[in-house]
Amino acid sequence: MGTAGPGVAGAVVSAITADELRDRLAGLEPIGLGPDGTTRLAWTPELAAAEAWFGEQAQAAGLRVERDPAGSLWAMPDAETPSWGTGSHLDSVRRGGRFDGALGVAAGFAVAERLPGVAVLSFADEEGARFNTPTFGSRALVGRLDVADVLARRDDDGIVLGDAMRAAGVDPAGLADAPTWLGRLRGFVELHIDQTRDLAQLGVPAGAVWSLAARLRLALRFEGRADHAGTTRRGERRDALAAAARLIVDADALAGDDPDFLVTAARMLVQPNAFTTVPAGVRLWIDARTPDAAALMAWRDALERRARELSAATRVAIELETASRSDPVIFDLRLLDELRDLPRLVCFAGHDAGILAPHKRAGMVFVRNATGVSHAPEEEVDMEDAAIAANALLAALERVA
Ligand SMILES: [Zn+2]
Repeated sequence: MGTAGPGVAGAVVSAITADELRDRLAGLEPIGLGPDGTTRLAWTPELAAAEAWFGEQAQAAGLRVERDPAGSLWAMPDAETPSWGTGSHLDSVRRGGRFDGALGVAAGFAVAERLPGVAVLSFADEEGARFNTPTFGSRALVGRLDVADVLARRDDDGIVLGDAMRAAGVDPAGLADAPTWLGRLRGFVELHIDQTRDLAQLGVPAGAVWSLAARLRLALRFEGRADHAGTTRRGERRDALAAAARLIVDADALAGDDPDFLVTAARMLVQPNAFTTVPAGVRLWIDARTPDAAALMAWRDALERRARELSAATRVAIELETASRSDPVIFDLRLLDELRDLPRLVCFAGHDAGILAPHKRAGMVFVRNATGVSHAPEEEVDMEDAAIAANALLAALERVA
């Protein structure tokens, strides 16, 4: 790693350097950057600006850019020949960091420039931060997107996803055709920042992910009754927020004491959200993850039982449904073998490479993140580490491609 090695047809491939990655990222960094972090939501002008950067990178690497029916960008050597792909995503959460997604795309171009035949991908709406549609582009690609459902979703401003896509120049009517593009890919390896302190604690610059934990996202609705906060007696109240608060505490408790079972009540909308009114309605989203898929399903059943008890006790109607779920993923073992110099990790976040894994040979390389923080501006990557990871990716792709 970090040294020049034999490349395609015996040509010597120069190593990827920290400076090169820094230079590539420099063009992307100001886009969507505000005082509290980076915000590049799907189908927005900020994302379009990042995609223009993608076009420049592709042109410099001699690659042609096409957009698939889901809006993901492909910088391709040749559309007729299936190729190995690398890359990540250019969208971010609200007030996110500089490296999540972006680093993988920048490193992807560094790799593709050295390895003829490799495609660079930027998947559409990986974070799903605007419409609660995570890994949108990759799920569309493998035919795992409920097209009618997602197209009708609205963002917090009431804009319908289908209209947002159209405004960004992507025809939503073509979304169901995305799987016709899957055949262009032989396999996919994604470089990404570590979203934990795992690598920092191991004291190593990079790691190979062997598995993604199972994940479940629940959407809950609590329907009580709006009433005067001062004049409504305790026995008469049907306080939706009080019921939601109790269920949040229970959701965490039901996960037991397994440190790898993570439950987060991540998002909540309260109606009418007024000082002097008993809350009438709550929408709540709970995210749960564990490497143990059976434990996750048992937790969901227990939470549903608890919700029924709570509903009976509070007279607040509670609806619970699965908004999204993903099974645990095991990445391609031969690829892992090509990354054998790197320590192996389990990852608790969802990634496009994980969506592709049941369909294509897939893998992930993680880069040390000193703070372990992600989805916030505090995420931190040393470009020397990123270069080591990118060279490991380059070497692995060189052998498999
Ligand atoms: Zn990411």
